[in-house]
Parts: sequence; C-alpha cells; structure tokens
Amino acid sequence: MTNKPTPKAGIMDIELYVPGKSNAPAGVKLHKLSSNETPFGASPKAIEAFKASAENLELYPDGTASELRQAIAEQYGLNVDNLICGNGSDELLHLMAACYLAPGDEAIYSEHGFLVYEIVIKEAGGLPIIARERNNTTDVDAILNAVSDKTKLVYIANPNNPTGTYLPFNEIRRLRDGLPDHVILVLDAAYAEYVRKNDYEAGIELVSKSDNVVMTRTFSKIHGLAALRVGWMYAPKEIIDVLNRVRSPFNLNKAAISAGAAAIRDVDHVAKSIAHNEKWLKILPKAIGDLGLEVTPSVANFIMVSFSDAVGKTAADADQYLSERGFITRRITSYGFPNALRVSIGSDEANQGVIDALTEFLRETK
Ligand SMILES: *Cc1c(COP(=O)(O)O)cnc(C)c1O
Repeated sequence: MTNKPTPKAGIMDIELYVPGKSNAPAGVKLHKLSSNETPFGASPKAIEAFKASAENLELYPDGTASELRQAIAEQYGLNVDNLICGNGSDELLHLMAACYLAPGDEAIYSEHGFLVYEIVIKEAGGLPIIARERNNTTDVDAILNAVSDKTKLVYIANPNNPTGTYLPFNEIRRLRDGLPDHVILVLDAAYAEYVRKNDYEAGIELVSKSDNVVMTRTFSKIHGLAALRVGWMYAPKEIIDVLNRVRSPFNLNKAAISAGAAAIRDVDHVAKSIAHNEKWLKILPKAIGDLGLEVTPSVANFIMVSFSDAVGKTAADADQYLSERGFITRRITSYGFPNALRVSIGSDEANQGVIDALTEFLRETK
C-alpha cells in the first residue's frame, strides 16, 4: 500500500478532453475549421470594450457581471434575476452537475452528445446514462425510457454538436412534459443563433413556463469571443440562487464582462454571421454530397461528413489530406464517429477550399 494522493472515485475514469487542432504545416495558410469558431472574429465594438478594460486592473471585477446580464436581458427581453453568467457555458454545465448530482445519482445525455456532459457528470460522482439516438438525432423516447428514480439531470445540446441535428420545439416540450418534476432539463443552445427553422425554439419559452428547465448559451460561437470564455444561463430563480452559492465569486473577468455586453448589443455583426452561415449551409452540404460523401443535415455552423471504409478514403485519410493543405477539421471518433469529420463553416475562401480539396482527395484516391 502506497500512501500517495489519490483523486476521489470516478475522476480517473474521465477521458481527457482533446480540443480541436489548430496548427497547419509551415508555409501553408491555416484555415481552422475544428472548433466551430466564427470566421468573422469578434465585433469591433467588443474589441474596443476589451481594450478599454485594461484600466484599473488592480480592482476585482463586478462579481455579479451585472453589465453583461443587463445587456443579455435587454437583448432577449428577459428578467435579469433569471440570468447567471459563466466562464464559458462549460462552467455552467459543470455547476449544474456539481449542485444537483450526489454520488450515485444519474444524469442522461444522448449517444452522440457533447463530450463535456460526461466529464461534468463523472466529476460530480454521478452516473452517466446514455440514450440511443435515431438518425444521429436526439430521441425523446429513448431519454424518457432511461429515466429512473435516481435521475436528476438531462443534458441536451440543441442543435447537437457534432451532428448538427436538432429537435423541434414540440419534441422538446414533449420531453419536458414526460420528465418527473424533480428532474432538470438542461438545454444547451450553443448554436441557437444559427438555426433558421420555424419549428425551433432555443428554450426561452420553456424556461419561462417551467420550474425544471434551464437554457445555456455561449459567446464562443456566433459572438466570436471564445478566447474570453463567456457563457450565460437562463433559469428559474431557485436554480440561479443555487448556482450563485457555488460559483467562484469572480468567475467572469472584467474584459469578458465588457466585451460580452458590447458583443450582444452589436446585432448587425450577428446578422452578418447568420447570413453568411445560411448561405454556406445551402452550398457546402450540397457540394460535398455531390462528391458522393454523406453529409448529415445540419442547422448549425458546422457539418458532419462521413467517409468510405475503403483503404485510402477514410476520415483519417481525408483528415491528413486536408491538414496538409491547411484545412484543419475535427476527428470525432470520441463522439462515436470513427469515420467522419466535423467541418466548421469558415470564410468563403476556406469553404471553397474544403470543397476543392475534397474533390482532389477523392480523385487522387480513386
Ligand atoms: C462550443 C459549445 C459550447 C460552448 O462552450 P463555451 O464553454 O461557452 O465555450 C457549449 N455546448 C456545446 C454543445 C458546444 O459545442
């Protein structure tokens, strides 16, 4: 028996999260399409606010992030008391598990759901319960069937990453209605701004009318502030009160608070990103599909492309081929897709480059 420090049970079962790659070979222009970041960068107004925040760095930031919560509340017509901000929405997903899961409690997520759910559940000592998907889409019945007396949380990304598929509002409502009252439904709407579907609702309406639904959002995607780590959650006041007791008192730094507030007010910048994404969501899946590759229908700012099993034509081969030409995409084996790549929608140049490179790749490996 050695007496070395040992983490609590469950921690060593957590697989290390490997972020999307970000390097291209020397001399090749880099197009980072591996982390669903925006090709437009942050709003110039957010960058200005960031720079201005360099004053008085000796002072602690506002621990309630009230400037940012106010800006979010105004933008979406929400009550500021129902908002909490996080150091990225990741922190809020963590806090939900930390506050609501005791060892042995269960939390459900879907088969190809966001990897962070498994991490936060295990960290809290909870048991991850996986609900099978249908057609690479969250299956409400599979989730409801997985509910037990021990279930405390259900995590759903809508739209989901890495599939890009989504559930319409009537399905989300059916899920909520089928859950016992003590189970909290966590709607992770990181890509909500990109969705152009009449039957989609990010979660605002459901949170407003329920005691057991929360919605998380992020500034990392459409707002282009991934580097600053800013997320927010809209939730019933009771749940906000619980999380406020546990979060670090100054979880958002000053630059994140002011740049976030400026970003969410810059609706023109957001509109530009939405229009660009909408355009490429029409072009990219069609062009890649025409090459004979399977593209899962996406409503987000990325697509999932499946490859053939033939030697030289697999996702691993395509990944290498694209990387050598500067197009960095995401292998998604850890999400249960060993033979697919997730490709973020990038600039016009990057998107066209991916189409051209894949065309060449398939030609060369014939
Ligand atoms: C990118 C992403 C997030 C955002 O995480 P942050 O911590 O806010 O950067 C959350 N959920 C999903 C499903 C994502 O893909």
